[in-house]
Amino acid sequence: MDISIYPLPADKMKQKISDESQLGFGKHFTDRMLVVEWKPEAGWHNGRIEPYAPFSLDPSCMVLHYSQEIFEGLKAYKWADGRVALFRPEMNARRFNQSADRICMPELPEEIFLKGIEQLVSLEKDWVPSAPGTSLYIRPAMIAVEAGLGVKPSSHYYFFVILSPVGAYYSGGFKPTGIMVEDKYVRAVPGGTGEAKTGGNYASSIKAALEAKQKGYDQVLWLDGCHKRYVEEVGSMNMFFVYGSKIVTAELNGSILSGITRDTVCTIAPTLGCDVEERQIDIEELMADIRSGKVTEAFGSGTAAVITPVGKLCYRNEVVEFGNGEVGEVTQKLYDTLTGIQTGKIRDEFGWIRFVS
Ligand SMILES: *Cc1c(COP(=O)(O)O)cnc(C)c1O
Repeated sequence: MDISIYPLPADKMKQKISDESQLGFGKHFTDRMLVVEWKPEAGWHNGRIEPYAPFSLDPSCMVLHYSQEIFEGLKAYKWADGRVALFRPEMNARRFNQSADRICMPELPEEIFLKGIEQLVSLEKDWVPSAPGTSLYIRPAMIAVEAGLGVKPSSHYYFFVILSPVGAYYSGGFKPTGIMVEDKYVRAVPGGTGEAKTGGNYASSIKAALEAKQKGYDQVLWLDGCHKRYVEEVGSMNMFFVYGSKIVTAELNGSILSGITRDTVCTIAPTLGCDVEERQIDIEELMADIRSGKVTEAFGSGTAAVITPVGKLCYRNEVVEFGNGEVGEVTQKLYDTLTGIQTGKIRDEFGWIRFVS
């Protein structure tokens, strides 16, 4: 399938943000977007890169009522030599199709996902910021656009990709965040959609996040939906707990999102002398291990913020702290190594980098 490139009229070109410290996250979008359509009789067709603009959707269309939607998130980095690098994009392509399968959407050939993103990023290269910590965030998504209120798989979909230059996630420096363990609401249950990257999972999480904010915490740590006893993940990050020279994360059990950053951390850690353990984590045992000092650090992993150090954790009104407001040694080492590989400062011996021509 060829992707047509439509002209970009001068009046559709936007002003670039010259002060890269003001970028923030997901606030600005580039000049162009990629759109590809699917219909049963035509398969994937009408692929085009066109000026960034609103969609015209029928108010009855299925995504607006029943959330038949999936998305991905990855980043492009500007290297010191001017090249633009994608980080493990084939993992996003694969996961996109796993999500599509769960939400009954058509499979998207990985080649369309990867080539489409490469072409779009290549055209929008000048939008990739270069200040330390900045990147071009890439948001692929698929939505059900058939008009009608019957609940069934749609017969018309848009796959689209938009790009957003984003700032260093930590504008105030790499600072530990506060997390509240959620023991009222749940995010996912076995057999549910927790493993799919779908908007509905986020819609149901907003209330818990808001209540945690009101109590002074940045994000919630979800427990399993059956027993509210086993640690799952945070908002849009997987969680790691550092036991000296070992890092522990929840095993993938079907209701946890299988993070690419999580996989990356699990691969890098042993090369830095850190053992990795993927297992069920009982919150009571975890709290006891934090109290007794066995757990020395905690951090989250996800594309948006890469590695987020956790400074304090609150569970049922008990607050435990890590370090003394400082970032732990293991967390820092993993952050430096991961961001080093992504930006070309550390050699990529894993074959994770894919350059955009
Ligand atoms: C995207 C996401 C993550 C992190 O995945 P990465 O591939 O590392 O970005 C973790 N949890 C949830 C719920 C997510 O949606």
